[in-house]
Amino acid sequence: MRYIIIILLFFSCTNQNSVSDIDTKADDILSKMTLEEKVGQMTQINLTVIAKGPNKWSSSFPMEIDDKKANKALIDFKVGSVLNTINNTAQKPSVWFKNISKIQDIAMNNTNLGIPVIYGIDAIHGTTYTDGATMFPQQITTAASWNPENAYNMALVCAYETRASGIPWNFSPVLDLGLDPRFSRQFESFGEDPLMVERFGVEMIKGYQGLNNDVSNKYNVAACMKHFVGYHSTISGKDRTPAYIPDNVLKEYHIEPFKKAIDAGAKSIMINSGLINGLPVHADYNLMINVLRNELGFEGVILTDWEDIRKLHDRDKVAATQKEAVKMAINAGIDMSMVPYEYEQFINDLKDLVNEGEVSIERIDDAVKRILKLKLELDLFNNPVTNYEEYEDFGSKKHHQLAYKAASESITLLKNKNNILPIKGNPRILVAGPNGNNMRTLNGAWSYSWQGDLTDQFADEFNTIYEAIANNYGKNNVKYVSGVSYKENGSYYDMVEDNINLAVREARNSDYVFLCLGENTYTEKPGDLNDLTLHNLQLKLARELAKTGKPIILILNIGRPRLISDIESLMSAVVNVYLPGNFGGDALADILSGKVNPSGKLPYTYPLYPNSLLPYYYKPSEVQNNAQGAYDYVGEVNNLYDFGYGLSYSDFVYSKLKLNKEEFTSSDTIKVSVNVENTSEIDGFETIQLYSSDLYASITPDIKRLREFSKVEVKAGETKTIIFDLPVSNLAFVNLNNDYVIEPGKFKLTIDKLTKDIIVN
Ligand code: BGC
Repeated sequence: MRYIIIILLFFSCTNQNSVSDIDTKADDILSKMTLEEKVGQMTQINLTVIAKGPNKWSSSFPMEIDDKKANKALIDFKVGSVLNTINNTAQKPSVWFKNISKIQDIAMNNTNLGIPVIYGIDAIHGTTYTDGATMFPQQITTAASWNPENAYNMALVCAYETRASGIPWNFSPVLDLGLDPRFSRQFESFGEDPLMVERFGVEMIKGYQGLNNDVSNKYNVAACMKHFVGYHSTISGKDRTPAYIPDNVLKEYHIEPFKKAIDAGAKSIMINSGLINGLPVHADYNLMINVLRNELGFEGVILTDWEDIRKLHDRDKVAATQKEAVKMAINAGIDMSMVPYEYEQFINDLKDLVNEGEVSIERIDDAVKRILKLKLELDLFNNPVTNYEEYEDFGSKKHHQLAYKAASESITLLKNKNNILPIKGNPRILVAGPNGNNMRTLNGAWSYSWQGDLTDQFADEFNTIYEAIANNYGKNNVKYVSGVSYKENGSYYDMVEDNINLAVREARNSDYVFLCLGENTYTEKPGDLNDLTLHNLQLKLARELAKTGKPIILILNIGRPRLISDIESLMSAVVNVYLPGNFGGDALADILSGKVNPSGKLPYTYPLYPNSLLPYYYKPSEVQNNAQGAYDYVGEVNNLYDFGYGLSYSDFVYSKLKLNKEEFTSSDTIKVSVNVENTSEIDGFETIQLYSSDLYASITPDIKRLREFSKVEVKAGETKTIIFDLPVSNLAFVNLNNDYVIEPGKFKLTIDKLTKDIIVN
């Protein structure tokens, strides 16, 4: 009897389908499929295409499947995948359940093979499109915590709540290198450093797919890494504009984080909607087949981004017709097209191309088998929709606490003149600025809607900055005056002056001003910028308030580092909250009042000048200086705040940087140790950052590169020894032959201000 129980337990704990099982099942289904059925599987449509109301996702219809439209798409055209939400707005889990159940019912009970639909969604910092879901900080904020566990927690909760919404596939994480502060989606990334993107990205994969990648588990979702690759590196800094990236740069900085996420088992990938070196990535055989499939060994599904096959013709002009565009993309390696509207044309074109011998049936079978395998792995044939009633932790306190934790570990103290913070007691406080009293700007885009414009409707129960400050210091002591505010202007926004004079009057009656400046919500094209400087009305408000002589605590609520150089010197303290999610106001209030000791550090370089927008790993010639008629090459690029910078209420002193030896071979591991002492009277967290510099190399080396980091608690008066094992191979760079190499010579290792030289033979 005992044996039977153990065996039963074993079977119930493991995926019902083993890997070879899944392969056999996929082959079996594939062998019975017609060309129509195969091409249908490769098609993804927007939900509005099969829902009541106009085929526009900003209509005002409730979410309900339209039988006629759904029958046509799912039965007649055998479409295999659906994405997105209705009305561009969040829905209750029960509404999701009803609608996805209906979709599965139509697809599975009315077609020959009964293949379930795979539903995909963008749940990128919590389950974006579900009313009541837990909204974590955005990825850039999470990176600022320098604690990858927060990325894991976010993904774990998001997977749970996405499944509670009946959805098994998530277009996340973003593994783009967020190296350009002008780019509208920098906030969706883990910042400018490839190692950070890799470490946080891998934790997201684990959180989404579970530690053994068993996505049949009803608490896990299949991840979709995006956007492969080089998406943010555009010349203009604008969304979906041309990038020029040499192969060695692409490999060392952009591809590496994807490689690590693929090794971690990521199930699917979305392609960069832009173009590199003139070639749209959706038509790039080399990147999708040679690199992604053959070099990186990726076996999952390759999905297009929004309308990107169409764009090969319409936008990028590399295909003379729509049909030519389909041929290019599918032959270049695309498995599934996020069409997402004119699916009939895509399906007919692809069928014709196969019949005409322009796309081989082997290529189609290859794509369809990967899609079927993903559906089998998700166990959709047995459990086509998960039921919200089985997810009692949805939106729970437990989940909220993890979101609060991530926000409180991320908020970054950038300036603290005369230790003005923390502010204790019951002072009179004016909260001012356009970001001071709304939930929308705390969350950013991809929150309850695409552009995040509906957040205040959904997140009313959570605290804005003003509400959290008032809760902390007492309602009678805290006032809010906006001064200036955002005004919608189509899908863009403008600023208007509200009442700067009133704000100034109230400031005079206060002991402190908490000035909340930043950005309204945006992503993709609507977030394109022509000027990185913070809006001049916000700068005006800051200057007018500063004239009162009252100390100003500047709170930055931004998706990217907007230039504040003109006003920074007028501020007594500067705190970057980034986009901290629904618990950002509370976390900020706890930091300002000293309940929480700040420990966030910048995951990007905060620029000082509009024409010096470099990540911290620039080349030495960036610092050349010929003031005296002769060039010297010393100094640093002037930033407002450096990558990795952030203050604490504690003081940390570094000492005793030691290595196990001074000379190494390329197969050795360097043991690095350093002491960190907390010389203050308050417990704190410090992130120890280990950088390397290759002093001379056959292509100009970066000034420095982050090689390891670790965030530790150091109690008041305590000294901790931190040890890193750094394989010498991690110091390699990619040369012009596109190979990783370690060239013998001198390297410098740096932690804080301590350095050690080593020789690699
Ligand atoms: C974005 C993707 C997103 C997709 C589906 C696109 O416009 O670039 O990141 O996953 O839409 O919503």
